[in-house]
Amino acid sequence: MDRRSFLKTSAIGGAAVAASSIIPACASSKDGKKAANDVALNISFQEGIAPGETLAEKLDFMQNLGVVGFEPSGRGLKGRVKEIQDALNGRNIKVSAICAGFSGFILAEDPAVKNEFDTTMREIVEAAGELGSTGVIMVPAFNGQKPCMPHTQETRDYLCEELHKLGEFAKSCGTTVILEPLNRKEAYFMRLVADAAAIARDADSEGVKAMGDFWHMQEETSDYGAFMSAGKQYLQHVHIASRGNRKMPGENGEVDNYVEGFRALKQIGYDKYVSFECGCGGDRATLVTAAVNLLRAQWEEA
Ligand code: MG
Repeated sequence: MDRRSFLKTSAIGGAAVAASSIIPACASSKDGKKAANDVALNISFQEGIAPGETLAEKLDFMQNLGVVGFEPSGRGLKGRVKEIQDALNGRNIKVSAICAGFSGFILAEDPAVKNEFDTTMREIVEAAGELGSTGVIMVPAFNGQKPCMPHTQETRDYLCEELHKLGEFAKSCGTTVILEPLNRKEAYFMRLVADAAAIARDADSEGVKAMGDFWHMQEETSDYGAFMSAGKQYLQHVHIASRGNRKMPGENGEVDNYVEGFRALKQIGYDKYVSFECGCGGDRATLVTAAVNLLRAQWEEA
């Protein structure tokens, strides 16, 4: 056999092997598509999103729109547990995640500031557990929080050890702590969903999870890859906003495309919440309703 006919034969052989392996791959991807289509989009709002003067009015609006999650701030949460439980009683809306609200920060160099974090964070985690929340969102340190431990391997190890303790505490309360990656202007050391998921993994506690925020995910090269990198095991929450100026999804037109990210969420069988964290550039009732409809259409398309 000369070199030319050898190449031809092996190319054909290769194609035959490839063709035979395509058949089961297609079948399983069809099954995967069917399973993915069964995944529901659970929309959640932070407290400032819905129009309304009171919490009850906001929840009425949410209920009419089919929003099933409510994300309050952690600030003062301990004193609001009963208020929130009563307000949600009889509604098809549950507490999704709790948005931060603690004082101090976990990577503070000053022991008093670290202690402030430990005390206030644990109080919020306890309240989150009582409310059946998916977890309490936290950032280990914003760029502006100083003095901060140096960005070294030792600090990362320390962070994982501290998160392990906090995660185990959260688990004992029936909830979690959720690491939120931000963009480089806000927290340069934890920018990607994969960064947060890897820290969660290394913290080695089921009580430590990660999330993605479509606004900060401008740092990612792929929305799909970002969510896939965390997978169902670590992805515990998602924030959403318009992608040009962080207003209601849809306010920035074409750029407000979440389809690739949604496709990943459907494929991993994500069963937590996609929660609005954004401003509003016009009539709130109109824009919020349009945003919810847009997300439902894109979820369907994904
Ligand atoms: Mg966010």
